Amino acid sequence: MRVRFAPSPTGYLHIGGLRTALYNFLLARKHGGVFVIRIEDTDQTRFVEDAEQDILDSLSWAGITYDEGPLIGGKFGPYQQSVRSERYQEVASQLIKLGKAYFAFDTSEEIDALKQRKISSSNPNPRYDFATRAEMQNSLTLSEADVSTRLARGDAHVVRLLVQPGAEISFVDAVRGHVSFESDAVDDQILIKSDGLPTYHLANIVDDHDMQISHVIRGEEWLSSTPKHIILYDALGWTAPQMAHLPLILSPTGGKLSKRNADKNGIPVSVFEYRKKGYEPEALVNFLALLGWNPGNDQEIMSLDEMASLFSLDRVGQAGVQFDLQKLAWFNEHYVRSKTPEVLAESVYVKIDELFDDVSMDYLSRAISLMLDRLSFATDIANATYLFADPKAYDEKSVQKRWKTNSSQLLISYANDIEALSDWATDPLESRLKELVERENIGIGEIMFPVRLALTGLPSGPDLYQMMILLGKESVLRRLQTASHAVG
Ligand code: GLU
Repeated sequence: MRVRFAPSPTGYLHIGGLRTALYNFLLARKHGGVFVIRIEDTDQTRFVEDAEQDILDSLSWAGITYDEGPLIGGKFGPYQQSVRSERYQEVASQLIKLGKAYFAFDTSEEIDALKQRKISSSNPNPRYDFATRAEMQNSLTLSEADVSTRLARGDAHVVRLLVQPGAEISFVDAVRGHVSFESDAVDDQILIKSDGLPTYHLANIVDDHDMQISHVIRGEEWLSSTPKHIILYDALGWTAPQMAHLPLILSPTGGKLSKRNADKNGIPVSVFEYRKKGYEPEALVNFLALLGWNPGNDQEIMSLDEMASLFSLDRVGQAGVQFDLQKLAWFNEHYVRSKTPEVLAESVYVKIDELFDDVSMDYLSRAISLMLDRLSFATDIANATYLFADPKAYDEKSVQKRWKTNSSQLLISYANDIEALSDWATDPLESRLKELVERENIGIGEIMFPVRLALTGLPSGPDLYQMMILLGKESVLRRLQTASHAVG
């Protein structure tokens, strides 16, 4: 088994692309096959400078490794189509010799004129095909001598696929079963553009053939391209790979998850944005695995290894699947809370260091450990600003409701009691507080609330005594003092 992920570097890796890469990867791992990455960069007009780098970085962030491809090479390389031009030219010439493709010299004005001439209510979208090619300037209508002169002169031309009408093109798709198309509906595809570069269709099938790809697994949006590919495989006498078209990813409000309706629903579309927002790679991968595939039981949490052992194409559904951001948040929370504070600290240290002064990695790990069961994202730790800096304000509503005339005095008393402690630990901090409650004959909330407010500025938060250990004696005493003057 040899499978491939063949992104075009026309933008940052899309989550749909990550799912396609993942399913290819899982199938290869399951069967001990080879997973190839091939960059389909023949469309110069849509090329985005750092897209290839982003695609490779995003795959690596997601834990999806490959066996052949850019950076690592392999025996069928190079793996960028832009440097394989000669081979596509060679195959195009072969197709022309076989009478399966032809040169066409029409200018874009001539093609527009054809469309204008033919357009009608029964034919709203006239094409360059069996019905119209005889009216055009191509090697089927011009004399051989004329064609040779034009080519020798360097006249602009393309190479088109000769699609015969009246045929049924069918194949068995591993997800969708028997699929068939009428050849009448397929136009004479351009195979080589006037810049000499191949189109997607030609380069794609040449590489899938040359790289000995056994299974083509890609999004449903490519299904309509498949008849063109089948015609090409047949024309060349090559066997087409097994096809599998993955279901569309739908927006929660219906329709394909386009950039526009994703934005409207607050759904990031590029993997880069998920990384930036602080999603755990395991969460995104686990979520995407189940967006179109099910393991046959109700297991949801799965490592890449588990997914690979359970994966099969016959459990991939045909129907579009709705993107559910809340479900993704649920996976994220699960993976965040199952990581060690040290690992999480590593991942958010840069951000915390940008926001606050003098936070050590050790301190950050301890802060995360204190907050772990409250975090949905590792980066949420940055919201607990009071763990990294003295509070700048005190929650007004709770001050009004719960700050009493004796609160400042109680804070001073407690500060004095704990200042004397030689052992800065939760037990003595708690007993000093309880002693104060008895001595003053007050309810426990009357002292706990002002202490928490003094330390955090907020009426609620993590375990009070553990937080005092984390903050340290000096900072706790300073915050108690400050609040005793500032609040009330
Ligand atoms: N280059 C195409 C893309 O950008 C690949 C489609 C295919 O897998 O054949 O998705």
